[in-house]
Amino acid sequence: MSVLTDLIYGGSNAVAGLTEGAVKDAIAKYGEDRKVAFPDTAYFLPTIYAATGVKVSKLGDLTACVGVQKSLITNEEDLGAALNAGLATAVGAEIIEALKYVESDAPYEGESGIGFVPDPIIRSLGVPLVTGDIPGVAVVLGEAEDPAAVAAVVKDYQSKGIMTFLVGNVIEQCAEAGVKMGLELRVIPLGHEVTSVIHVVTVAIRAALIFGNVTPGDLPGLLAYTKERVPAFVNTFGALNEVVVSAGAGAIALGFPVVVDVDLGENQVPGALESVTDHTATVKKSLDLRGIKIKVKELPIPVAFANAFEGEIIRKGDMQVEFSSHKMPTCEIVQTREESQVEDHKITIVGADLNDLEPGQTYALATLVEVSGAKMQSDFESVIERKIHAWYNYMEGVMHTGQRNQIRIRVGKEAFEKGLRLSHFAEVLYAMIMDEFDIVVDKCQITIITDKDQVQEMLDKVAMPAYSQRDERLESLTDESVDVFYTCTLCQSFAPSHCCVVTPERLGLCGAVSWLDAKATKELTPTGPCQPISKEGCEDEAKGVYPDVNRMVEEATHGALSKVTLYSIMEDPMTSCGCFECICGIEPFSNGVIIANREYAGMTPLGMTFGELASMTGGGVQTPGFMGHGRHFIASKKFMSAEGGFERIVWMPKELKEDVAERLNKSAKEKYGIDNFCDMIADETIATDEEALMTFLNEKGHPVLGLDPIM
Ligand code: SF4
Ligand code: ZN
Repeated sequence: MSVLTDLIYGGSNAVAGLTEGAVKDAIAKYGEDRKVAFPDTAYFLPTIYAATGVKVSKLGDLTACVGVQKSLITNEEDLGAALNAGLATAVGAEIIEALKYVESDAPYEGESGIGFVPDPIIRSLGVPLVTGDIPGVAVVLGEAEDPAAVAAVVKDYQSKGIMTFLVGNVIEQCAEAGVKMGLELRVIPLGHEVTSVIHVVTVAIRAALIFGNVTPGDLPGLLAYTKERVPAFVNTFGALNEVVVSAGAGAIALGFPVVVDVDLGENQVPGALESVTDHTATVKKSLDLRGIKIKVKELPIPVAFANAFEGEIIRKGDMQVEFSSHKMPTCEIVQTREESQVEDHKITIVGADLNDLEPGQTYALATLVEVSGAKMQSDFESVIERKIHAWYNYMEGVMHTGQRNQIRIRVGKEAFEKGLRLSHFAEVLYAMIMDEFDIVVDKCQITIITDKDQVQEMLDKVAMPAYSQRDERLESLTDESVDVFYTCTLCQSFAPSHCCVVTPERLGLCGAVSWLDAKATKELTPTGPCQPISKEGCEDEAKGVYPDVNRMVEEATHGALSKVTLYSIMEDPMTSCGCFECICGIEPFSNGVIIANREYAGMTPLGMTFGELASMTGGGVQTPGFMGHGRHFIASKKFMSAEGGFERIVWMPKELKEDVAERLNKSAKEKYGIDNFCDMIADETIATDEEALMTFLNEKGHPVLGLDPIM
C-alpha cells in the first residue's frame, strides 16, 4: 500500500473504532430511545442524512450508521476507495460530535469554538456568497510550528473576505497573534478536537440540501454539488497524523482541495492534496486550486479595507471620536448634478478634521456625494447612497450604523493613530463608486462637513427635501405604475433552478434586491442577473399572472419552472432559493398564515421553528402553502392578494411585528379599514401553540375568522 492510502485507512479505522465504542457507551448510559440532535437544524445529522437519507433522531439509530461508516472502509489499494474511507471519517466525526450534544445542551459553552452552525446562519450566508462578497470558504486546521505563520495566513484570508473556520490549536495561536474573530469578522473558531471540523463540512452539505435541492440519499448528487458549487478548501498546519489525513481524504471526496505545510513528496495528489512549505505561498496556492479570484482594491488609506471588517464593533473606550445623530445633526446624501457642476475626484473637508476634534466627543457630520453621468438616473441615487454604510464599515477601525440622517460613526483610536482622516473616508467613497458604478457615474466629487451649523444647513436644505422626494417616489412605485418587472438569478450559483421576480411591491426574497436595485443592476451589467420582464397581457390581476413572467422564468431556470404567480401562495407560488428573510406558512386552524423571520430562534404555533419551516421549501422548487419572502413584502397590498392578502396574517415574532407595524397598520387601514391591525396579530409572547393562538384570535375578533377557507 502507498503511504497515503495507508494513513487514510489507519485514520478511518481508528475513528470507526472510536465511534463504535462511543455509541455503545452512550446507549449503555442513556438507552436507545434517548434523543440525539444538533441544535436548530431541520436536517438531523446532516452528513448522514444527505449521504444516506437516514433521519437519525435517537441513539438507537446510530448503530446502523456505524455499520454504514464501517462499510465505507474497504481497505482497498485505490485512491477512490480511500477517499470513501475519508467520508467514513466524516460520518464518525459527526456521530462523535452529536454525542457531545447528548451529554449537554451546550457542549461548546465556555469553549473557544462555536461547534455546530445552525441553519439560519447558513441561509444568511447565501447572498454574500452569490454576490462574491464572500469569495470562498477556508478551513484552517492543526497547530502551526510558527504561530505567526498561521496568523498571517488567516489575516490574509480575512482581508480578502474569505470565510475562515479554525479547528485545533490554531485557534489560540491566532487569538494570541491578535486575529479578530467572530462570525461577522469571518474568522470562526469551531473547536479544538479534530472532529469539530465536521461543523464546517455540514455547512457545505446543508447548502446542498437548502439551496441545491439535492435529494437526501443521493450521494453522487451531493458530492457533485459540493465540488462544483461550494468554494471551500482546507489548509493544515503542523505534523499530520492519520486521523487528520483521513479527514482530509473526506474533504477531497467532497471536492475541497487540501494544502498541507509538510512535504508529502510523491504522495501529493495534484489538484487535490498538495504541499506548500513556504507559508507566504499558502494563500495563493489554495485560491488557485479552488479557482477563487480576488478583486484587489488598493486604496490610498492608512488602514485595511475589507468586507470582513463590516461587523467590527468599536466600544466607547476604544474610540477616538464619534459622529452621531443622537446628539448632533448628521446626513449622508447622493445627488445627481449637471456635468459642469462636478469636478471629478474633488474632495472637500469643511470644518475640523479628526485631528482637530477633541477625543472621546460626539460631533456632527454630513457626507455629500455629487455625481454626474450620461446614464445616471435619480433612481440610482438611493442605490449608491445605501452602500455608504458598507463602504465606511469596510475600513478597519471604523464602525458605521444607520443611513440618511440617522447615522452613527465611530473612529477607533488605533485607526486614528495610523493616520486615518476624513479625506480617506472620501477617497474610499470615490474609489468604490468609480469601481462599482462606473457605467452610470462619469464624474464624482465628495464633500465632508463637520462644522455643526453647516451640517445643519446641508441637512435642512439639501438632504431632507431629497429624502422626502425620494420617499414620495417610493410610495408611488407600485406594481401598476411601472412598465417592467425584473428577474434576479444571482442565487443560481447555489440554487441552479431558482429565479426571483422582482417588482416594486415585491422585493427579492433575500431582502437585498429592490426593484430599484434590479433596475440599477440591469443598467450596470446589461447581460447580468436582472433582466426586464414585460407586463403586457396580464391574465389575472389578483394572482399576478403574466405571460412574460412565465416565459422569462422558464428561460432563466432552463425549463425547470414554467408557471409562476406573483401574489399567490397556493397556486404556482414563486420559488425560493433558501436565503429568504422570512418564511410564510399556512396555519390550518385559523385559515390564516404565520410568518417567521430568520433571526427568530423560538417555536411557532405550527410546531416548527424557522429552520424547520424553511426546510419545507427552497432549492428553486414550488411548494404551495409555503413562501419565502423579504420583510418589506409583508405590508404590501399585493402580499398573497390571491388568497385575501395580509389580512390572513395571524402570527409573527414580536421583533418582526414591531419592525413592520407602522407600514402594515397603514396598509390595513387603507385596504380593509382596520385600525391597529398589528394588535390582532399574535406573537411568541402570546401564543406558541395553536390553541392559545385561536383563543387570542377569537378574543381580538381577527378578520381572518370571517374569511373563506384558504385551501
Ligand atoms: Fe437571490 Fe432572489 Fe435575492 Fe436575487 S433577489 S439575490 S435571486 S434571493
Ligand atoms: Zn438566494
